[in-house]
Amino acid sequence: MSFLYLFRFCCDPGHNADHETASMRAFAEAARVDDVVVFCGVQEINTGHTTPEEQQVYLKLLANVKKNLPRGVSLSVNPWHTLMHLDAGKTLREGQDFRLMTDPDGRQSDLCVCPACGSWREYIRALYALYASVEPFIIWVEDDFRFHNHDPLRWGGCFCDWHMETYSRMAGKALTRDEFLKGVLRPGKTHPYRKIWLDCCRVVLQESAAVIGDAVRGVSPGSRVGLMSSLPQVHAAEGRDWRALLTVLAGGLPPVCRVHLPSYSEDTGGKYMIRFNLISMLNRAFLPPNTEVYPELENFPFTRFTKSRKFTRFQLLSALPMDLAGITIDLFDLNGSGIVWEEGYQDTLRNTKDVLTALTDSGIFKWEKEGVCVLADPCSSYTLQTRQGISMEELYPHDAFFGGLLGAYGVPFYYETDPERAGRVAAIGGQYLRNLSAAEIEALFSGRFIILNGDAAEVLVDMGLGRLAGIAACEWVPQNNGEAAYEQVEDAVCQGWSGARASAMILCSDVLRVTYCGEADVKKITGFYNSFRERTADGQAIVGARLLIFPFGRFASPTEIPPMLLNNVRQSIFQRVLGEVCASLPMADGPYVSAYCYSQGGQTALYLINASSDDIEAVTLKTDAASVKGIRAYSSAAGRWEDIPFERRQDGLRLLCPLPMWETAMLVMEC
Ligand SMILES: [Zn+2]
Repeated sequence: MSFLYLFRFCCDPGHNADHETASMRAFAEAARVDDVVVFCGVQEINTGHTTPEEQQVYLKLLANVKKNLPRGVSLSVNPWHTLMHLDAGKTLREGQDFRLMTDPDGRQSDLCVCPACGSWREYIRALYALYASVEPFIIWVEDDFRFHNHDPLRWGGCFCDWHMETYSRMAGKALTRDEFLKGVLRPGKTHPYRKIWLDCCRVVLQESAAVIGDAVRGVSPGSRVGLMSSLPQVHAAEGRDWRALLTVLAGGLPPVCRVHLPSYSEDTGGKYMIRFNLISMLNRAFLPPNTEVYPELENFPFTRFTKSRKFTRFQLLSALPMDLAGITIDLFDLNGSGIVWEEGYQDTLRNTKDVLTALTDSGIFKWEKEGVCVLADPCSSYTLQTRQGISMEELYPHDAFFGGLLGAYGVPFYYETDPERAGRVAAIGGQYLRNLSAAEIEALFSGRFIILNGDAAEVLVDMGLGRLAGIAACEWVPQNNGEAAYEQVEDAVCQGWSGARASAMILCSDVLRVTYCGEADVKKITGFYNSFRERTADGQAIVGARLLIFPFGRFASPTEIPPMLLNNVRQSIFQRVLGEVCASLPMADGPYVSAYCYSQGGQTALYLINASSDDIEAVTLKTDAASVKGIRAYSSAAGRWEDIPFERRQDGLRLLCPLPMWETAMLVMEC
């Protein structure tokens, strides 16, 4: 099997272990599970950092589950705690003299530990060595292995006395928590404390990862050590070096990562795919290419009240562009109530597996990626400038913006972290450009089409390089200040009429008012108007036939797209501009049809995901239709490859086959 189901399994020793072990065996067979990941000390039945006696109980459980696995199914281990997720009213046990994590206000956790603590490292070394003795396929490191999100701490840690001494030593002066944090978050030009914070976080977690990795390999050299993780934007604020961290854990074996899938409970498919593109796809781009990725399919707080079987299938199918080895599956309560057959998830898993395997086996997700190249850097937190300097959230990079937007617009895109490998159309958001020198930016802007949002254009001007985009000056127009009520198309017929409008109020964003250099060749596409129909600013514009300004920016969240930017007028403008730049790029019509494009040996493939809540009778693609000779497709609904009929139209293709809601199709086009 080339697509693995890793089923995360909870049972409570002494409560229901015998019953649930039998149930697990039957479920694994019914759902076609490849690997059973046994929780140790999970959530409701977690007693804190487990004692040696408790660990022996779990060791026995692991051995017993292993003995009862169906033939061909492997065992993995999921200790549910490293640093500990949250206090939840618990404290350290007798003999656990761990240093506790401390937040920026000096508040100390009762249970979550400082990852630099020597006695905790000794404890975690012994725990992983013990559980590794069952020789698991993968032993996981939970996503509490992080500095942020340790309730009840404010943001997280660590600002314990040891850490404050370390920061002080690195800074060359004695620092208070307040003074240090003010430096880390200082608005404008970054303060040296920023680098101290990020470097120190990075090194401390890598050291602890080495302890865990070495402990496992000392006992079971063939076991993989997998990393569970959270949002890449948030990990950026703790300086995470994904490659280094995974390499330390892997110790020569393939790196393994459980990337977060951003929906514990059911949402609309469209909203989910925006977050999937902004979070999961971005995270994938930050990992070494040979990483075995098993993303996080989780239903929380469990049962079909939270997530339907249909949405579960949609998450399985739509995760494939991450180029997966399989998926982790966490569907049932973690309190010991066990597997709930009545939910029917076993049927969903069983019925979807052939589709996942066929699409993965096609090898297409490993082909060369095509489309708009969205540049992003896992280290943007080192260079980005804060606006207010009061919260850690200001360190979350917004580089990935265009990935979320273009996924919703039906425009193929992919992330790239190396500016020298940028494609011929590169989209830049957030403060990504601050990672580059002036010479690197000049090289990036030369010989390719560049798309900038308002944030990126402002950064360019701030760096004294506005001339590269023909910009003399710029200023922000805050949302709802009255100046930008709507955007009007000025250069062409759009959506069937001239003067098409799209709102710029309420659920939109601030817009950047740009003053272009006198000599710049600017083709204005839209303008912003106030409620009195007076033109107040240029809107979208193409500069010198090689750069598009998309003037929206200063977004509230790096993992959402403002709803007002999602409409047919703006999608249509974007697709028109891109069609002129690269005519052969296939782009899907309509809302929320995500398209991922690949090429190899003269073939072009397009993975289409209908994330909207409407069935599509016939998908319309904008592309250079004349060059397409035939299309072979694998439809997830039909579960087979077949030649599909299509009509050529003036500006594209109409595929004469349906794409139902939350289903997908892989097209391979013969050109
Ligand atoms: Zn600490």
